[in-house]
Amino acid sequence: MFDLSGKVAIVTGGNGGIGLGIARGLASAGAALMLVGRDAAKTERAVAELAATGATASAAIADVTVEADCRGFAEAALQRHGRIDILVNNAGTNWRKPPQDYSLEEWRALIDANLTSTFLASMAVFPTLQCQRAGKIVNIGSMTSIFGASFAAPYSASKGGVVQFTKACATAWAEHGIQVNAILPGWIDTELTQQGRVQVPGLNERVLARTPAGRWGVPDDLAGTAVYLSSRASDFVTGAAIPVDGGYSSQA
Ligand code: NDP
Repeated sequence: MFDLSGKVAIVTGGNGGIGLGIARGLASAGAALMLVGRDAAKTERAVAELAATGATASAAIADVTVEADCRGFAEAALQRHGRIDILVNNAGTNWRKPPQDYSLEEWRALIDANLTSTFLASMAVFPTLQCQRAGKIVNIGSMTSIFGASFAAPYSASKGGVVQFTKACATAWAEHGIQVNAILPGWIDTELTQQGRVQVPGLNERVLARTPAGRWGVPDDLAGTAVYLSSRASDFVTGAAIPVDGGYSSQA
């Protein structure tokens, strides 16, 4: 039910952090992986890590805010493997400050990186999934898809948008056999949040105090839910947004 043998998965931002944790999970379930990132050396290192475990993996160097780049990696996956079964829209970033301190340029850049990227990559794979009459799209939201964060207004807006975009595509594409779901990670220890702990005083202690599991998540914590949402096991699940957060969003 969870077997991904013969399936082809594209993971944006798959060269590190949560994306690489998800890629490891999909590879261990049998999928061939295409990892998308901007940093070529980092992406090749991640591909080598997966290949060393016996997985089929390749790199695509692309900026997910650029439409032609998204079309490019979708075409490359199709040429290489003849099919695309799974897209994980994971690439994203954040810059932390009070809402009134963002410039319009910064606002647009964050919306592009986190939300428009999800639109562009989804549109790039849609014709293939539609032809196959099957496909799985997994979008990465955040706790800020649910809550606001005083230091992350554009990020919160983009991640709220990711969930609503997920639901809209889920309802539109169910008739094509395509399921579109979101994972909402809690606080996960990655480069992104290592920066956050430096920039936001007391963040580490607040996360530990509020997370019932009593720890930060690690990228591999996301793998199981990503495999589930990419596999036959979730064929009747679409439009869902599943927190993977050690209980953070359930705590009053
Ligand atoms: P990292 O900073 O560790 O990884 C971000 C990844 O996204 C990198 O692989 C980076 O690749 C890629 N990326 C960023 N911008 C672009 C772009 N324009 N084009 C292509 N690739 C891009 O962050 P995380 O692993 O922590 O975050 C991954 C996702 O999870 C993000 O969407 C984030 O918002 C979300 N998330 C993270 C949480 C956490 O606690 N860590 C909590 C909730 C959500 P490269 O270096 O090559 O540019």
